[in-house]
Amino acid sequence: MFRYIIVGAGFAGAVTAERIARELNEKVLVIEKRNHIGGNAYDCYNADGVLIHQYGPHIFHTRIKEVWEYLSQFTEWRMYHHRVLGVIDGKKVPIPFNLNTLHEIFPLSLAQSLEEKLIQHFGYNVKVPILKLREVDDEQLRFLADFIYEKVFLHYTMKQWGVTPEELNSTVTGRVPVYISRDDRYFQDVYQAMPKEGYTRLFETMLEHPNIKLMLNTNVNEVLKLKDGRIFAFGQEFTGKLIYTGMLDELFNYEYGELPYRSLRFDFETEHTEQTQEVGTVNYPNDYEFTRITEFKHLTGQVHPHTTTVREYPQPYNRHVAEQAIPYYPYVQAEPMALYDRYKEKARQYEQLIVVGRLAEYRYYDMDAVVAKALKVFRDRITTNN
Ligand code: FAD
Ligand code: UDP
Repeated sequence: MFRYIIVGAGFAGAVTAERIARELNEKVLVIEKRNHIGGNAYDCYNADGVLIHQYGPHIFHTRIKEVWEYLSQFTEWRMYHHRVLGVIDGKKVPIPFNLNTLHEIFPLSLAQSLEEKLIQHFGYNVKVPILKLREVDDEQLRFLADFIYEKVFLHYTMKQWGVTPEELNSTVTGRVPVYISRDDRYFQDVYQAMPKEGYTRLFETMLEHPNIKLMLNTNVNEVLKLKDGRIFAFGQEFTGKLIYTGMLDELFNYEYGELPYRSLRFDFETEHTEQTQEVGTVNYPNDYEFTRITEFKHLTGQVHPHTTTVREYPQPYNRHVAEQAIPYYPYVQAEPMALYDRYKEKARQYEQLIVVGRLAEYRYYDMDAVVAKALKVFRDRITTNN
């Protein structure tokens, strides 16, 4: 029998499994409902031989040295700085909106005076969330804020979330602040790179260990039962630790109702040409039904005569409809968070249960944050009281 069972083979599950196997030298069972490891970071070669990210484009970036060094044990890296252009009034301009964007959009004299005011008001090399910029008490800057709000954020956010930026937790649009700088990169983190041989290969290396047993194509409910504070695995009482990285409402049979999520539909297209876009991602805040198009070869650096792009079509999450059944984004609003807290309280009744990851914690985590959290959970909750 195993003393550790992990549900989910994404970053949260793979990091904890790897640490238990190597650091504690204990056997661990990983249960994964999909037919592959990697969670949403999974990548694979499509029929044309182009490396794609099946669940949406994933760019690795972090400022956390521990995370970078930890993952560097399992992969070499390809240095990559992600750049995004947004189509505004029919023109492709740098996103996040920065001083270069300002100069590409407005006539020189207006751009210059707006630039001066921005620097005077906020300073240089400063990031200002759009909702903060809109609070500014200056007519000309208000004009700029409203322009950016309307052309970059409003319609994109309506597509992505079905609500306006004001109706969302301000941290969501705050992920892409207006940047008073000439830096065109999407991220400013110290470490920005892509795993040289892809994410799936990275996961394979992490999970390749005699102490790790992997069960694919298996849903948690097929092998585990939780009842009155006790956990049963394969029909027997389980006394070890259960690390769960899936949705908490699913684990508890939707007892208090369903947690809301946003889902996506991905439309992949391969063209028999080497390149179709000037940068990794082009955002379409105002046009079409999709939010953005990503061309994978920019990210992966793959040399190939053909190229594959993906368009992201946001849609409501619905677990009963196969095409809408992947919960890509937690809907981090007050009401869903309150519902989540009830599930979290329920989870506390199970002493052996540890929840970690984007789904299990209902947090809008990037990959590095999940790795950092999983390492912390290992240190604080797994290595103690064994
Ligand atoms: P997941 O990767 O979702 O893994 C959870 C695993 O658990 C899955 O494999 C799932 O199948 C399995 N599972 C769930 N329920 C069960 C069950 N009941 N039984 C068995 N198995 C189960 N982050 C970045 O840092 N950079 C990016 O560029 C980036 N781009 C993204 C783009 C998109 C479209 C999305 C949706 C996310 C993006 N992210 C990005 C975030 C990144 O995907 C997550 O931070 C990361 O994958 C979370 O890892 P996780 O292990 O918590 O969850
Ligand atoms: N956003 C926007 N316009 C853009 C880019 C982002 O309105 O051109 C908003 C939108 O609400 C989005 C959020 O900022 O959901 C976060 O964007 P990010 O690119 O971080 O989203 P992710 O890559 O996680 O989908």
